[in-house]
Amino acid sequence: MFNIVLFGAPGCGKGTQSELLEKHYGLAHVSTGDIIRGEIAAKTPLGERMHGYIERGELAPDELVVGMIENYLDAHADVAGTIFDGFPRTTAQAEAFDRMLSARGLEVGLMVYMDVPEEELVKRILLRGKVSGRADDASEDVIRNRIKVYNAQTAVVADYYKAQGKYEKVPSLGTIEEVFDRICKVIDSRR
Ligand code: AMP
Repeated sequence: MFNIVLFGAPGCGKGTQSELLEKHYGLAHVSTGDIIRGEIAAKTPLGERMHGYIERGELAPDELVVGMIENYLDAHADVAGTIFDGFPRTTAQAEAFDRMLSARGLEVGLMVYMDVPEEELVKRILLRGKVSGRADDASEDVIRNRIKVYNAQTAVVADYYKAQGKYEKVPSLGTIEEVFDRICKVIDSRR
């Protein structure tokens, strides 16, 4: 099982590249953002607890997100590997993730950091907001807050994987196909 953490600031293209990688490598894909939006849409108790965080562009509590990934792992024990998109987003999540994986005889094979300059991120998310219908993509204030939260709490997670020798940075400006090719080269060199 080859597990990949696809990492980068909001708007860097993780979701788009995840879909392409999923098909190309026959991997599963899980996005904590998608799970949370699903819970909110279904008006579950978990969704009720989550919607304020998403609306403000803040991170949801670690234990809730870690619980979602634990459920995912238990339900997908037989997949060839998974692309983790938007998780882990804090060092505490990364540590809990390692514990959950090793309890199941699994590990992260690689973290791919998709590097995109900040002004480009804001432009991309505003553009996406016109079609995605995501409330957190429509307001420039919320977008800027998400990037601030990324810089303050999430960027440091790269160091966690650097220390394990699992980190690769991929410049992620250019066409979707160009970025996809760069990511595939990195994955192929590591598998
Ligand atoms: P995303 O779709 O990955 O941009 O996530 C959208 C929102 O969901 C984020 O702004 C957070 O509020 C929440 N979220 C998604 N993944 C996580 C995570 N791993 N930890 C905490 N909050 C998360």
